[in-house]
Amino acid sequence: MSNQTYLADTIECGIKGGWRDMWVGTQIDTTKLEHIKADRKGILEEKVSLAKQSVGLDALLIWAHGDPQSIDTLCELCAGMGIETYLWYPILADIPDFEIPKSAKVVNHEGRRGYGEIGRWQRLGTYASGREKFEFLCPNSEETISQIFNLYKNQLNRHDFDGVFLDRIRYPSAAMGFEMLFSCFCDNCKRMFKQQFNMDLQNLRSAVEAHFGKRDIYSIDLIKNAGSIHEILYPEVMGDFLIFKNRSVYKVVKKFSDYAKTKGKKVGLDLFSHSLAGAVSQDYELLSTACDWIKPMIYCHSTGPAGFPLELHSIIHSLLTLNRDLKLEGVAAGLSDILKVKLPETLNLLMTNGIPEELIFYEIKNINMLNLKSGVDIYPGFEVMKMDDLCVITEKILGSYLDNVFAQKAKGMVMSWDLLDMPAENLDFTKRYLREHTG
Ligand SMILES: [Zn+2]
Repeated sequence: MSNQTYLADTIECGIKGGWRDMWVGTQIDTTKLEHIKADRKGILEEKVSLAKQSVGLDALLIWAHGDPQSIDTLCELCAGMGIETYLWYPILADIPDFEIPKSAKVVNHEGRRGYGEIGRWQRLGTYASGREKFEFLCPNSEETISQIFNLYKNQLNRHDFDGVFLDRIRYPSAAMGFEMLFSCFCDNCKRMFKQQFNMDLQNLRSAVEAHFGKRDIYSIDLIKNAGSIHEILYPEVMGDFLIFKNRSVYKVVKKFSDYAKTKGKKVGLDLFSHSLAGAVSQDYELLSTACDWIKPMIYCHSTGPAGFPLELHSIIHSLLTLNRDLKLEGVAAGLSDILKVKLPETLNLLMTNGIPEELIFYEIKNINMLNLKSGVDIYPGFEVMKMDDLCVITEKILGSYLDNVFAQKAKGMVMSWDLLDMPAENLDFTKRYLREHTG
């Protein structure tokens, strides 16, 4: 049976069977209202009420940046409407009111900090008026993490949230420059790696340098035969180092999650989707032990970090740059086999048209096969907004996203990522879809 037939049958079967109510969340960034002097409260009230009335919003994830008054307004509004509120907090990059010291930024095998060069996103450093830099801090910089932890505690205690939603809990992705995938070799990492694996990280650094010096780096055979994207990206010699990196991210998440739990708050995690998570050291099974639910970011149309079009563009561009013998067709075919959806024929089309929404179906399927902590729910996140320069979601795309979410019987979903950029017609379309398919 072809993938498409199987998918169509599953959707049909699910629709006939009827659905229970679905948990619906969305995200909001109030800094977008900073230029508005009057009646911010009115705008927030209108947006939140519309989301409640149309899709029965269950949870609002509120970006930690933004004026405290707007955040308080949202907490009050939501409490009145039976909507849970989460503090959406970025931990390892773009932390509110905090400049990451240079010494704490991740260091790659070349000693580079911050961004790499190969395959880097053109808009890095300028996105969101330069507020979202995606410059990553080493998860083992304990002193800096403690400072961020204190800021987090203050913000969590300052407002009346029901939970926390932890973001930027990873190492740099290919969109920050391919070379940065080979981080971190800072003194803290050297010391901790030695403690855990009784091995000198310097030897691995030499192995990574040798990897980049190879003539047949990233051969077409490797790409064709790999079972996952991270298996393509990282040489086998990095095995223990990848485990170490997964644990390093987990350790930070656990610290922030444990605190929230002691305060009686729920914990959600914003993770790269399954196919990309291994490349940025997010281990779903390990991280599931430190949360109540996970939102895999299954963005098929956004050209920003975590979105498949941009991340795949950066990876493909880098592979073609590092091995001039490779052809786009071969690389795209290898990645299409892994993802189970066909990638567009050119890199331009990848960025302008995105990739098929069926990806949601296969990503959730793969996540459901993992050994996650029991009771941890998966709420796929997909774009519902219209932002001319980043992603435009039409009703056709939205309908296809929802079909695939429902085909996998997801218990919930996060309409990403910003309620303020979500057109009323997309909320209305989702309302009609839910009416037809739930209950
Ligand atoms: Zn480090």
